[in-house]
Amino acid sequence: MKYARFTHAGKTHVGIVDANASTIKPLDDGSSDLSLLLSSSKDIRVPSQGASIPLDQVTLLAPVIPPRNVFCVGKNYQQHAKEFAGSGFEAGAVKGAEIDEYPAVFTKPATSIIGPNAMVSLHSHITSSVDYEAELAVVIGQGGRDIPKAEAYDHIWGYTIINDVTARDRQKNHKQWFMGKALDTFCPMGPWVVTADEVDPENLAIKCWVNGELRQDANTRDLIFDIPTLIETISAGLALLPGDVIATGTPAGVGIGFKPPRFLKADDEVWIEIAGIGTLKNRFG
Ligand code: MG
Repeated sequence: MKYARFTHAGKTHVGIVDANASTIKPLDDGSSDLSLLLSSSKDIRVPSQGASIPLDQVTLLAPVIPPRNVFCVGKNYQQHAKEFAGSGFEAGAVKGAEIDEYPAVFTKPATSIIGPNAMVSLHSHITSSVDYEAELAVVIGQGGRDIPKAEAYDHIWGYTIINDVTARDRQKNHKQWFMGKALDTFCPMGPWVVTADEVDPENLAIKCWVNGELRQDANTRDLIFDIPTLIETISAGLALLPGDVIATGTPAGVGIGFKPPRFLKADDEVWIEIAGIGTLKNRFG
């Protein structure tokens, strides 16, 4: 099931997108966020729905607003770790290490989240090195602390797509990753959450295009730290909450992987497609 948040005729709804992604039905309970569904249980029942609306007549929003910062994982595909280590922009992680012993975890504030088709600001007065990162994101349903790997999938409600937009100069200059990744609009998310029962997260093609040019082309089977490891690591001593989002890292092909680097500029359009989930499109300006 694909759950989306959207506005239509001036109201915000949660709805279910049909299998062809051509229409959406708002939930009858009048929900404007997923919180009731997320916290109910891992048994996902189909709520009653209203009349279908063509998808092109609604404005999709980010499907989830997490209760706090989005958790993100850095350097989690080997080829990307290599391009990052060789880019000259690395700081904060174990410099030069292509595979770290532990996952690199940082966060993006919930205030940086925007929806599909929304404009990403280049913040050109403070940075000239804005880059894209296509990522599979996990949405937590049932919360928990100290979740062992073997139980990790029981805590996942669904999956969506995040573009972990990054100002590379700030990531480098400030010696950690938050300053380069936390700017307003730097967390496009969507187009919807696909429930966990419909997704095999360990084998998903993930692709990213800039202005129609394929830049990233990988598969989630190549994650260095798999999703159960990430959940076990992040939940150690820190309770995950319903609606928490974990972005699992980006594969090779980001702008700093090119020589010279290819940063985003005004009017560029970035499309991220993950098989079985959908396509997240955003313009930069
Ligand atoms: Mg990232």
